[in-house]
Amino acid sequence: MHLMQLPREVLLGENLKGEVVNVAKRIGLGRKALVLYGKHTKKIAGREVEENLSGEYEVDGLTVKGATMEEVNRTLDEIRGGEFDWLIAVGGGSIIDVAKLASFKAGVPFISFPTTASHDGIASANASIKDIGAKTSVKAVPPIAVVADVEVIKTAPYRYLAAGVGDMISNLTAVKDWQLAHRIKGEYYSEYAALLSLMSAKMVIKNADIIRLGNEESVRKVVKGLISCGVAMSIAGSSRPASGAEHLFSHALDAIAPKPALHGEQVGVGTIIMAYLHGMKWERVRETLKRVGAPTNAYELGIDPEYIIEALTIAHTIRPERYTILGKDGLTREAAEKAAKITGVI
Ligand SMILES: [Zn+2]
Repeated sequence: MHLMQLPREVLLGENLKGEVVNVAKRIGLGRKALVLYGKHTKKIAGREVEENLSGEYEVDGLTVKGATMEEVNRTLDEIRGGEFDWLIAVGGGSIIDVAKLASFKAGVPFISFPTTASHDGIASANASIKDIGAKTSVKAVPPIAVVADVEVIKTAPYRYLAAGVGDMISNLTAVKDWQLAHRIKGEYYSEYAALLSLMSAKMVIKNADIIRLGNEESVRKVVKGLISCGVAMSIAGSSRPASGAEHLFSHALDAIAPKPALHGEQVGVGTIIMAYLHGMKWERVRETLKRVGAPTNAYELGIDPEYIIEALTIAHTIRPERYTILGKDGLTREAAEKAAKITGVI
């Protein structure tokens, strides 16, 4: 049996802070709702969502500090203690990740209300949580609904939208790695999920100049693409269609760099290098990232070249069961340095 879990409703539009009530009603969610937000996202949308819900539901709010196991457990205690029926996460990456894992553990649904379009976790089943130092991807369930308010997402700094492009273009190498694992390790492969995932990557390549404008249309394009990535992962039943060696490289940077950049920014740079290793047209990846104003090298990431090389050599150890172009033994230091230099990353 192959189980595919998908969001029931996806809303994309303006002024959706009040629309959450109708979404909850249509889905038939229970009486008690917990709204999760960060200090900042509470101000920009969270408080308003909470107020709108309070007219129809018993609501409480919880401020989350980061995507750590500690925060997941604190949220879990709150859900159980307050007997909440469902959650809504108003925030960027970490708030959604915490809500995703905590609601999964508690066995209650959650609604994703993204305040940025910087990564494909807004609609996926995977949560990226920091546990004992390192960040790991934990499988949970996708949100029951995604409410993407263009007005809210548009207010986030442009850098986040460009990072979203990086997370989508990474599908090019992720799918290549998946095909490799399919051929070499006999891993399950879904052609449909792979094509859907590639569609998002091709869309950003084609629309880079429109996305660069950072207007409403840009936000809509990026959000739709990111949601498609989440759907592709749900169809595959794993993050394979959207996460390969370029993601392992980014996780490695998260673990060793003193000040990592945004997930999508690191993944985008990783895609340039992995595309080179795959013998793909890596210049096209770099060109697209340049055109949308996303980082394409160590300097623009704000990360010392030394960490880039080290991350490349240890990336294969991050998730050994995930077979990629890096193989079982990974890159030698010389190969890592060469790949990074040829592609202009260092
Ligand atoms: Zn990603």
